[in-house]
Amino acid sequence: MSGEKVDLSRLWIEILADIAKNIGSGCCQSWFEKALPLRLEDGVFVLQTNQRLVRDRLLTQYHQILLETCQKYIPEVLAIEVLFDTSNPQAQDEGPEEQNSELVPENTGNREKEFLPSKKNDLDPRFTFENFIVGKPNEFAHAAALRVAESQETQFNPLFLYGGVGLGKTHLMHAIAWKIRENYPKRTVIYLSAEKFMYQFIRALRFHNNMAFKDQFRSVDVLMIDDFQFIGGKETTQEEFFHTFNDLVDKKRQVILSADKSPSDLENIGERLKSRLGWGLVADIHPTTYELRLGILQAKAETLKLGIPNEVLEFLSAKITSNVRELEGALNRIMAHASLVGRPITLESTQEVLRDLLRSNEHYLAIEDIQKRTSEFFGIKIADLLSSRRLQTITRPRQVAMYLCKELTTKSLPDIGRKFGGRDHTTVIHAVKKVQELCAKNAEFAHDIETLKLSLIL
Ligand code: ADP
Ligand code: MG
Repeated sequence: MSGEKVDLSRLWIEILADIAKNIGSGCCQSWFEKALPLRLEDGVFVLQTNQRLVRDRLLTQYHQILLETCQKYIPEVLAIEVLFDTSNPQAQDEGPEEQNSELVPENTGNREKEFLPSKKNDLDPRFTFENFIVGKPNEFAHAAALRVAESQETQFNPLFLYGGVGLGKTHLMHAIAWKIRENYPKRTVIYLSAEKFMYQFIRALRFHNNMAFKDQFRSVDVLMIDDFQFIGGKETTQEEFFHTFNDLVDKKRQVILSADKSPSDLENIGERLKSRLGWGLVADIHPTTYELRLGILQAKAETLKLGIPNEVLEFLSAKITSNVRELEGALNRIMAHASLVGRPITLESTQEVLRDLLRSNEHYLAIEDIQKRTSEFFGIKIADLLSSRRLQTITRPRQVAMYLCKELTTKSLPDIGRKFGGRDHTTVIHAVKKVQELCAKNAEFAHDIETLKLSLIL
């Protein structure tokens, strides 16, 4: 959204002026003015610079003043990120509005400049295969992406990656682009969002330059379009894309698309195009599992060299189940908090800082909801669930309810115990263990628990 970017650059100017007042304009010029605002996402204010030293200084010596000043002008800022990007030598001289999500390597020649996607590249330097953690939910998409990025010939055309928001589609797309550039520097890669594709197409029509537009897209070796679902309902753009697509495929050039749905589920996309999109390789990214979330957090904490206790990472992986973006946002927030208050990160501080986020991932479940649903499920009375009766037909549902409270809410073990007729937290621990054991041993029981759980969270 360019409106937001314009705003950010205006705010950045105010921030710079404020910092200059504090530390002197010479110092401000040497460091802060060498960075540009890129975006504000999940509370993380992302800046970009083409000087490694600038990035390092902004994240160490000047981190505090930078963060505090940014927060003064943009209250939603929780953390600062500074990207280092050598491929963008003009970063200091050009407006941030120009920082769009496109890439054309240097060898595209001098075709109609106006209609070329910007040569500047904002492929995120962090979005590489090396930084992509592979787990069950994404192993197929990852393997497909890697294969397409590495192979000399076009085996699968198109490669169609799809999955829910924040699960790593853009990360994989950028990783492919980086890898192709590294392995085949002569190949021309265009990476852009579907929105940008449409925007350029409309501009070409308006300026009667569609020949240049067509040439540009039809001469690439690899065309990558992110968030393809955007093209739904935009019929003229779809038509143009379809021609481009056929032309590229005929020439055995690689087309790579990502979307939030599978080709057949895309809305307002012509049947012809839909079916054609499914001819290549369609790979989906599934929602994350606990193991994958933990793996991602551990890798991130390690590269950032943060001393975050593992129990905090485990806690986050268990509680923030929505998507990876939110998980990373949570990590950034607790880091920002720790650096602001100058205290190490603990489980308690994490719970405190993330209270709102945890609540939204909690599906607003109260212990009482879980008790009610569980007793209905097992056909017993709530009063029995809370009583001290020790019949197995009652103790088992009670254990299940305790287990679900532990899994689905952020309540502490003592809190849970109290709500079950004033039981001790060790009883809750015992219940959780028991249910886990039973699930491991008895598939039918595990299935029941899963059904009950889904009925609570959906
Ligand atoms: P999408 O495009 O599917 O909405 P993104 O690719 O933007 O999602 O991913 C959101 C964030 O999560 C990014 O910062 C990305 O690096 C991170 N991420 C997602 N999946 C992984 C993964 N498997 N390993 C490491 N980081 C990941
Ligand atoms: Mg994306």
